[in-house]
Amino acid sequence: MPDTVPSIRVVVVGGGVSGILFTSGLFRRLGKNFHLHVTIIDKKPYFEYIGTGTLRAMFNPSHHDNMVNPGFTKTANGHELEVLHGKVLTNIDKTSNTITLRDNASSAEMMVEYDYLYIATGCSYSKFPILKPDFGSIEERRSQLEEFSQQIKAAPHVIIIGGGSFACELLGELNDYYPNIPITLVNTRPNMLDRAPQGAHDYVMRFVDKANAKRKEDEKIKVILNDMVHLKTNTTNKGVELPTNALIFSCYGAAPNTSGFGDFNIPLTAEGHIKVDLYFKVEGTNNIYALGDVNNIAEEKMAATARLQAKVASTNLANLIQGKPKQIEYEPKEMVQVVSLGKKDGMMIKTSSIAGTGRMFGWMKGKVENLVLNTVRNPESLLSKQFY
Ligand SMILES: Cc1cc2nc3c(=O)[nH]c(=O)nc-3n(C[C@H](O)[C@H](O)[C@H](O)COP(=O)(O)OP(=O)(O)OC[C@H]3O[C@@H](n4cnc5c(N)ncnc54)[C@H](O)[C@@H]3O)c2cc1C
Repeated sequence: MPDTVPSIRVVVVGGGVSGILFTSGLFRRLGKNFHLHVTIIDKKPYFEYIGTGTLRAMFNPSHHDNMVNPGFTKTANGHELEVLHGKVLTNIDKTSNTITLRDNASSAEMMVEYDYLYIATGCSYSKFPILKPDFGSIEERRSQLEEFSQQIKAAPHVIIIGGGSFACELLGELNDYYPNIPITLVNTRPNMLDRAPQGAHDYVMRFVDKANAKRKEDEKIKVILNDMVHLKTNTTNKGVELPTNALIFSCYGAAPNTSGFGDFNIPLTAEGHIKVDLYFKVEGTNNIYALGDVNNIAEEKMAATARLQAKVASTNLANLIQGKPKQIEYEPKEMVQVVSLGKKDGMMIKTSSIAGTGRMFGWMKGKVENLVLNTVRNPESLLSKQFY
C-alpha cells in the first residue's frame, strides 16, 4: 500500500505556464508512494500557451488549435487532480486557510480549503487585452481571434506603440503576413530593445530597412524613437501627425493579475507584483506562495523563467511533504532570449551580448515553440511531461 497524505491539499490559482509546470513537477517529484490532492483553479476552461504563437494566431487563427489544451486530467504517478473552471478569486482567508471563488456563469461563491496555496495568475495587457484569453470557451476565443484577424487584414495602416521584444515580434509577423500595410512604430525610448546591447537595436533597424526596400513608397515602415503617442490628438509629443484610420497595437503595460489581492493582506509592490522571498513564499505568510509573472522576483518575466521557478517550488514542496529538510533557494537568472522578426529572421540576445542573428533564429523560435506545443496540446501529456 502506498503512503497516502490525504490531509495535504494544494491549491494552485492560475493554470497557466507556471501553475501547470509547478503541478506536473510536484506530481513527478512525489513519485508513486504519495497520493496528493491538487486543485487547479482557472477562470477559463482550457489551457493556452502564450508565446510568439499567440501573435501568429492573430494573423492565422487556425494556429490557435496548436496552442490550447481543452482538458488536462492525466497526471504523472496517479495523483488526484481537481480542476475548477470559470472561477475567479474573491477572497483569501489566512486564518481559516480558505479561498473563495465566484462561478462566472452562476455567480455562486464557493470556498476551497488549502494547506498550501500557490498563486500563479500571471499578468495581463489592459491596452491589448486580446493577447491573453479571458473568460469564455475555446470556441469563443477562436472567434475573437478570427474577428481580430479580419480587422488586421482590413487595416489601412497600423500603429505599433512600444519597442520591446513583443513590439519587435509583432512588427516581424505583420511584415510577413501583410507586407503592403504601412506601419508606424512609435517608441518612447531612444532604442528598440533598449535593455539589450546596442547591436540588437541596430539589427531591428536593418530589418526595417530591408523590409522597406521591398515596399512601395506609401507602404513603408516608419520608426519614430524617443517620442510618445497622444491617441486623442493623433499626434506625438514632437508633433508628428499619425494616421487617423490606423489599427493600433499597444505593446506595453503588462500588469500582474493581483487586483484586489491587497484587500486580503497579500503584500504587493507599487507595480502590483506579489512580494515573495527566494523560496517564493509570500512575505508575512507561512503557506502561501506566488510563481511566474505575478511575483516580484527580479528577472525577465518569461515562460522560460516561470519554468525554472516552478521546478524549484515543486522540488521544495515535494521535499517538505516527504519530510526531507532540503529547501532550495532560487537564484534569479539572466535568460537568453530569442526574438523573432517574422518566420525568417530573428536574433538571440543576452543582457550583455548578442549571441546570434539571422534566418536561423526566426526558424529556431518557431521550431522550439512547436516542440513545446506538441506536449501542450496533448491532454495525455500536459500534466505528465515537462513541456518547457
Ligand atoms: C506575445 C507574447 C510572447 C511571448 N513570448 C515568449 C517567449 O518567446 N519565451 C518566453 O519564455 N516567454 C514568452 N512570453 C512570456 C510568457 O508567456 C509568460 O511569461 C508566461 O506565460 C508566464 O506564465 P504565468 O504562469 O506566470 O502566467 P500565465 O501563463 O499568463 O498564466 C496565468 C493563468 O492564470 C489565470 N488567471 C488569471 N487571473 C485569475 C483569477 N483571478 N482566477 C483564476 N485564474 C486566473 C489565467 O487564465 C491564466 O491561465 C511571451 C508573452 C507574450 C504576451
